[in-house]
Amino acid sequence: MKRRLIIIFPLVALLVFLAVQGFMIISIWRQEKENTLMRYESLTREATSVLLRAKKFNGFEKAMDITDKFAGLVVEEKLPELRTAADTANLKEEVLAQAYSILQKNELLSSFTNEYIKKKGYSTDFKSFIWISYLGLLSDKGQFVIADTVPDKDKIKKTIIVVNTYKEEHNNFVIEYSSLIDLTEINSLVFRKAFFSILLITFSILIVVLIFWLTWRNLMEERRLSGLKSDFINNMTHELKTPLSTITVAGRTLEKPQINTDPDKVLETAKMISKQSVNLNQLINTILEVSLLERTEFELDRHKVNADELTHQIVSSFLTSCDGCATVREEYKAPGTLVAVDIVYFTTMINNLLANAVKYCDKDPLIVVSTAVADNEFQVSITDNGIGIPHEHIDHIFDKFYRVPHGNIHKIKGLGLGLYYVKRIATAHGGDVSVSSRPDRGSTFKIRIPI
Ligand code: ADP
Repeated sequence: MKRRLIIIFPLVALLVFLAVQGFMIISIWRQEKENTLMRYESLTREATSVLLRAKKFNGFEKAMDITDKFAGLVVEEKLPELRTAADTANLKEEVLAQAYSILQKNELLSSFTNEYIKKKGYSTDFKSFIWISYLGLLSDKGQFVIADTVPDKDKIKKTIIVVNTYKEEHNNFVIEYSSLIDLTEINSLVFRKAFFSILLITFSILIVVLIFWLTWRNLMEERRLSGLKSDFINNMTHELKTPLSTITVAGRTLEKPQINTDPDKVLETAKMISKQSVNLNQLINTILEVSLLERTEFELDRHKVNADELTHQIVSSFLTSCDGCATVREEYKAPGTLVAVDIVYFTTMINNLLANAVKYCDKDPLIVVSTAVADNEFQVSITDNGIGIPHEHIDHIFDKFYRVPHGNIHKIKGLGLGLYYVKRIATAHGGDVSVSSRPDRGSTFKIRIPI
């Protein structure tokens, strides 16, 4: 439960942090958008009032004069000719379009506003336009309404600012219109403004995620190591207990008075004690060697030896010591090659691989030991017909204490140190060890040592 919390808490904290940062980015963006709209609103209003104060006109005078003349013409010539509803609709459309065109062509406010904003040092990435909300022609018969549109607030884009609304009456028409600007590029304006803050927040997110990832990786690695360590302690206890209990039983046998009358039994028991002591000693040495390897760098006592001959000697004495426990085919293809190795360590390395080839085999072990010279390296390969190694464990088998944890492999004794030792010795010689394996088909371990 506690372990789970150790993982869940930091994850939740990271998610909360990311949510808060995301929320901050959105708030900054919204705030900056609002500020930009407000800034442009006040700038355009300022421009309008400056124009009015300084030049005593609002920029639409010329447009109004032209519209008045045009309205007069329509009132005189076109209104009397209207017959059908279609005529009326067409005329309204035409007059409104013409009014828009006159206003847009002849107004001076937009260019003045543009200049003004530019002078103040702000971007002029916006579009100015006019909205006629009411237009009526004045004739003898009264007002002829061309347009009467209340702007639909929901349809007006959020980026549109109403600068000013004007209501005017001239000889031939009445009008109500607004000058507007549309900040079409508001997002890029906001981005430029908020860039630095967003960059800082993004940077802090990246740093936190990176630190989190590193810590997470360490945590996982530590969990893995602590798992391996407890496996190792279990295995070691098991390995030590076997010879110890045999020695204890043998000791008790020797204590029995009746054994004195049977010298053969005494000898047999003494041999058993001695054999198990040797086993025990070997085990303790392995553990000590590995802990020594951990603390100090290797000190190799290297000598140039005939590599093929040395390998053959090791294979022969292995077979003798295990009473011919396997069939070994030897294929030496590096005759006369001299290679500088520490003979003791090199022997341990080959012995470990041969012992594993026998240990992890569920049929009659058939081992192929072959040598070669390639790329200025002496290579020795040990191929077996054993149980093979599942793909997902391949990357870990050279790790300290690592044992493939499945099936009946657990019945096979070991401390998970043999291959770790092989790897360390191979790299200490400036070389390396690699493996290729297929479950149920067998494995090949290849040691490479520079010549
Ligand atoms: P140990 O044999 O003490 O468990 P090793 O470091 O020698 O430790 O081996 C690590 C693991 O690699 C073993 O637990 C075993 O599962 C796997 N292994 C090693 N050699 C072979 C092999 N020749 N065939 C199949 N599996 C092997």
